[in-house]
Amino acid sequence: MMHMNILLVEDEPSIANMINKGLTEAGHEVSIAPDGNIGYQMAMSHSYDLYIIDIMLPGINGLELCRMLRKVKDSQPILMLSALGTTDNIITGLDTGADDYLVKPFKFAELLARIRAIARRRKGIVADENKLRIADLEIDLDARVVKRNNIEVSLTSTEYRMLEYFMKNQRKVISRMDLLEHVWGVDFNMATNVVDVYVNYLRKKIDKDFDSKLIHTVIGMGYIMKSA
Ligand code: CA
Repeated sequence: MMHMNILLVEDEPSIANMINKGLTEAGHEVSIAPDGNIGYQMAMSHSYDLYIIDIMLPGINGLELCRMLRKVKDSQPILMLSALGTTDNIITGLDTGADDYLVKPFKFAELLARIRAIARRRKGIVADENKLRIADLEIDLDARVVKRNNIEVSLTSTEYRMLEYFMKNQRKVISRMDLLEHVWGVDFNMATNVVDVYVNYLRKKIDKDFDSKLIHTVIGMGYIMKSA
C-alpha cells in the first residue's frame, strides 16, 4: 500500500486517536486538526495526499470545509466521516466534492479498504504519468530522467535519490539528518557536512544556470525545495 500523508479533521479525541494509531501502524503519516478552522489552515500551509474529514465539527463544519478545499485544492482525495448515515447526508457529502463517505461507527479495516480504493483510483488517473514537477523542473520516476526547462540534466545515482527526496517533500524543511537517512540510509555512517557537499553538486546541476532557484538553505535547519 502506498504511504500517504494524511490530514485528519476530527474533534472527538478518542476517535482521532484511534484513527491516528491505526493509520500510523499502516505506514501512513497523520496530522490531526481538532476543528474545521485549524483543518483549513493546515491544509493551506501543508500538502497532504488525503483528507479525512468528520462532518460534525465545531467552527467550519466538515461539508463546508470540503467545499472550501475543493475551491483551492482540486485533486486531493477527501474521505468524509459522519455519524449521520442517511442517504441525504451521503449525497450532500459527495456533492460537496468528497471522494467517499464512511458512516461512524466503522470498522478500522473498512477505513483502510476505502483508503486503498481511493489510492487505486488516483493511481489509475495518473498511471500514464509517473512524474513529479516543481516550476520547470520535472522528474520522470519510471525512466529516471530529469529535465529542467525541457533540457535533460544528467545526475549521479546519489544526486538523483536526493532530488527525488526533495521533490517528494516540496515546501518542507529537510534536515541534513533527513537527507542522510533517506538518500544514504539510516545505517550509513557519514558526517552531515558531506550532505552539504552533495546538495551543492545537485544545485550546480539543477539551479546554478537558472534565475529561479529551487533548493534553498534554511539557516540552522537544513534545506527546502520550493519555487520562488
Ligand atoms: Ca464530530
